[in-house]
Amino acid sequence: MTKPKTTLIRGGTVVLGQTVSQQDVLIQGKRISAVGNLSEYKADVTVDAGGLLVLPGAVDTHVHFNDVFMNTISVHDYYTGTLAAAYGGVTTVVDFSNQKHGEPLIDTLKYKREEAGDLPLVDWGVHPCITDPTPETLDQIPLVIAEGAPSIKCYMTYREDGLYVSPKDLKRIAERLQEAGGMLLVHAEDDEIITKNISDLINAGLTDYVYHTKSKPPESENKAIRQCVEIARETGCRVFVVHMASADGAELVSAARTEGVDAIAETCTHYLVFTEDMLERDDGLKWICSPPLRDQKNQDRLWAGLRDGRISMVTSDDAAYSWEAKLYGVDRFDKCPNGIPGIEPRLNLLYSEGVARGRLSLPRFVEVIASIPAQLFGLAPQKGTLLPGADADIVLFDPHAKWTMNQQTLHMATDYTAYDDIEIRGKILQVFSRGELIIDGDTCLAEKGRGRYLHRQLDLSIRASI
Ligand SMILES: [Zn+2]
Repeated sequence: MTKPKTTLIRGGTVVLGQTVSQQDVLIQGKRISAVGNLSEYKADVTVDAGGLLVLPGAVDTHVHFNDVFMNTISVHDYYTGTLAAAYGGVTTVVDFSNQKHGEPLIDTLKYKREEAGDLPLVDWGVHPCITDPTPETLDQIPLVIAEGAPSIKCYMTYREDGLYVSPKDLKRIAERLQEAGGMLLVHAEDDEIITKNISDLINAGLTDYVYHTKSKPPESENKAIRQCVEIARETGCRVFVVHMASADGAELVSAARTEGVDAIAETCTHYLVFTEDMLERDDGLKWICSPPLRDQKNQDRLWAGLRDGRISMVTSDDAAYSWEAKLYGVDRFDKCPNGIPGIEPRLNLLYSEGVARGRLSLPRFVEVIASIPAQLFGLAPQKGTLLPGADADIVLFDPHAKWTMNQQTLHMATDYTAYDDIEIRGKILQVFSRGELIIDGDTCLAEKGRGRYLHRQLDLSIRASI
């Protein structure tokens, strides 16, 4: 494949910050070099973007590749996962790496480098997850930050899977992160409430999929979020609540922020498009995830929170377990690996359900899928924007196209999809990554191994809104 030196994307509708206007975008090598009226410029390649939206490549900071969990492993690796990402307009992913008990924290990065090898098609980074908060582990926090992984995740549940970290340990981790300039990401669900509910339900013979939701009511999430807020308040560490499903959580986090507490939250695609009613279906296992899907009223409030900034951004929480593994839960909801494969549909769904339905403005859509994740996770100004100097990660998007999303039209590696038979407005036509055309219609042109490790550095002076 020959690499064009210059590519001119002409006459598209460019979303740059709060401005939406018709502009030309010039790519020189791997970067965007100019945005404006460039009609006189003679480039090696000219792409007519008339009638199309020109968007920065999406940034997904919450994916689980090769994730060993609940007696299985996710089927998205650094090839299949980044392939689906590329088709979905995602040019940057940040993956989680769980610390193995008794092993140094720094090895979380080593393992991901080995897994990535010569596979990734798009650029990638890593969040180490602390599972064994010994003094030695805590001493390595500055080390992983220096290696470009300044966002560390902890789980407040999943004790059986060896992931649980107590609130007391969370606070100690937050203190060390605060000193070292890092950020604490938390899976906020209260382990005690959930464990008791699961055992009560199973003992009462209530094993159907719908009881997954009942075992994890909003209060199990809210209680944990309140603890996260207190940890942020007491330590001054930035605390980021991942995959928030509870709309009350948005109130808790944004209220704390108005008091000067550095707490931030994201939600995920599935909480914005599905409700708990999906678990009543015969194939309800597809929608078992944690925190669980909630009701319509809650979903409406999530959209409102996303619109006004109480919720800062949206990720996929891609957790692609095979159907065979999902079936572990066929007789008991608590045995089903929690997670929904979703790395590919996020941009399309947020446009279709958000922008096309008048729930998000075009600039806000770009913020929540690209700009804000890049800013909060130490990837800006290289990623998440079309400003000159940024990597030429660009999505050309037809806002008028209509199509049906289903297993045949998606490219994720799972043998089923939760995003089945959904009418979609708007379609990704081309995707550029560092100036290279990697998706052209139905064809992926990216070579294995072209994706680079992203050395991230947080800018904690960037504050989330509201
Ligand atoms: Zn997750």
